[in-house]
Amino acid sequence: MKYIGAHVSASGGVENAPINAHNIGAKAFALFTKNQRQWVSKPLTQESIELFKANCQKYNLSSDYILPHDSYLINLGHPEQEGLDKSRAAFLDEMQRCEQLGLSLLNFHPGSFLKKISIDDCLDRIAESINIALNQTKGVTAVIENTAGQGTNLGYTFEQLAHIIDKVEDKSRVGVCLDTCHTFTAGYDLVNKYDEVFNDFQNTVGFNYLRGIHLNDSKKEVGTKVDRHDSIGKGFIGSDFFVKMMNDSRFDNMPIILETPDETAWAEEIKWLYEVQNSK
Ligand SMILES: [Zn+2]
Ligand SMILES: [Zn+2]
Repeated sequence: MKYIGAHVSASGGVENAPINAHNIGAKAFALFTKNQRQWVSKPLTQESIELFKANCQKYNLSSDYILPHDSYLINLGHPEQEGLDKSRAAFLDEMQRCEQLGLSLLNFHPGSFLKKISIDDCLDRIAESINIALNQTKGVTAVIENTAGQGTNLGYTFEQLAHIIDKVEDKSRVGVCLDTCHTFTAGYDLVNKYDEVFNDFQNTVGFNYLRGIHLNDSKKEVGTKVDRHDSIGKGFIGSDFFVKMMNDSRFDNMPIILETPDETAWAEEIKWLYEVQNSK
């Protein structure tokens, strides 16, 4: 079964996210558990935590299909000690917020080498950062999101994702989220090579590590390494791919999250995605 939703707003408190998800017909959702553009946020209040859990239960939104996203400031592969320490502390705080909310997944962008260390050293650092966070928390899986490879962001090849996973000690608490826009602009031709791309993913990373999907069309062409999401069917990936994916059981039973730019279209996009199942 497919669990489709969107990255909804948590403004006014995390407890509003499940309400916003329910209102667009979502069976899954993503949220920021703190302000994604600030290093430090106030701790979650007990009231907020309890309301969040109550609202998830009320709308039948299971933690298996909730994929929180960490702050954009965090760089777990930071080449400099100060930036690395700050990022590791902030990441631990994100993991602990997930623990408090009873959430089992935390999605994050792996990190950037900033042209100051080698790619391999940066990937090693990212794995070490994950190990540090996993050692201090329980029950939350670190979900590495693949990137478009814009700037010096790493995690744009399946090999880089596999490199990180290989160096994580607790393999039961590390996973991957594939963002379809990022995959496409990183150079994987989802439109013309659907089977090859996902066979490559299976052989290099393995579907057993796949914990979620970010479902986005792309405003940029394949291989451009530019991260510009588009609404489903409006970009260079196009509707046919999404129909195929909605009928592919390898993407069952995991959060499938829209991060498409027009949030007024989310309800319609979700409805369409459910409708195209078995419609081939
Ligand atoms: Zn992301
Ligand atoms: Zn994404």
